[in-house]
Amino acid sequence: MEQKRVINFCAGPAKLPQTVLLQAQKEMLSHNDLGFSVLEMSHRSSDFVKILNKTESLLRELLNIPANYKVMFLQGGGSGQFSAVPLNLIGLKEDKCADYLVTGTWSAKAAKEAEKYGKVNIVHPKLDSYTKIPDPGSWTLNPSASYVYYCANETVHGVEYNFTPETNGAVLVSDMSSNFLSRPVDVSKFGLIFAGAQKNVGCAGVTVVIVREDLIGHTLKECPIVLDYKVQAENNSLYNTPPCFSIYIMGLVLEWIKNNGGSAAMETLNKQKSSIIYDIINASKGFFDCPVDVSCRSRMNIPFRVGKKGGDEALEKEFLDGASKRGMISLKGHRSVGGIRASLYNAVTLEDTEALGAYMKEFLKEHQ
Ligand code: PLP
Repeated sequence: MEQKRVINFCAGPAKLPQTVLLQAQKEMLSHNDLGFSVLEMSHRSSDFVKILNKTESLLRELLNIPANYKVMFLQGGGSGQFSAVPLNLIGLKEDKCADYLVTGTWSAKAAKEAEKYGKVNIVHPKLDSYTKIPDPGSWTLNPSASYVYYCANETVHGVEYNFTPETNGAVLVSDMSSNFLSRPVDVSKFGLIFAGAQKNVGCAGVTVVIVREDLIGHTLKECPIVLDYKVQAENNSLYNTPPCFSIYIMGLVLEWIKNNGGSAAMETLNKQKSSIIYDIINASKGFFDCPVDVSCRSRMNIPFRVGKKGGDEALEKEFLDGASKRGMISLKGHRSVGGIRASLYNAVTLEDTEALGAYMKEFLKEHQ
């Protein structure tokens, strides 16, 4: 029976490709005709290890990950990595300090967590609002910092780097939770990349960590063993029970990305989708207002206010109600920002985005 599906613009956990959901549904009773599902499989079994290895090799292929990098599939989410990164890397240099770029809620949280384990230097003048990336000319990197940290896409505020920060050779760490595999990335420029799967590459429960081998093994002694990269890398992510089902789903999504042209094709599509919405915002003469600087507007999460600068809450409610009647859900902005947020991750189609665009135009015509 055909199931009713809505158009889901959720910031995460987010929409998954239909083919992935159908395959997971098909295999729920019997994976590969084994007579049981991934949910019921030992993580030590050869069948699960095949799934794990396939997921890793697809990821290596899609991101062209150099051989001197380890890939791990961990629990604890992006927030777990806010702790794991300093616990594993802040001891790389004697001073136990780290440089942070703070351009939104998520990098702010990461910096606050890192303060528990060492000194944190915010490399740029403090921002009044999270609507831009401070000019690299204003950054002061600390030469004795163990690493430089930034969040490649701030999910709440819709601020995305369209460049890789220059660090004068310092170890670069990036939280790519909300734009992972939405565009190509040169992994060799990074010491470490992490990303929760539940936006672009799967469902909640698994976080990918890609780390250069020589950075492993400097862990602080208070690091919980499950967050210790050395232990997890040596055990191929199987020190303890991994999030088996989430890894399996990630494998299916990676296969879908590969079959659809890889990260370059995702980028083309994501540029096209986000332009549809930004073009409408830009042409609306302030009726739709996106506060983010044009140079760093996110392709993944588009926050905007409706009616006027700063938003008209009654109109925003009307906009959301109308969207919901048209089968479009999860467009409400993050509670700390208000207004509307449209998340256009990889699995959101051009047609989904065009439907939102058509509705925005209709709403504009009715109210302007
Ligand atoms: N980093 C970014 C960019 C995020 O968007 C999120 C969550 O939305 C996190 C980290 C935290 O992830 P988690 O909720 O999996 O801990």
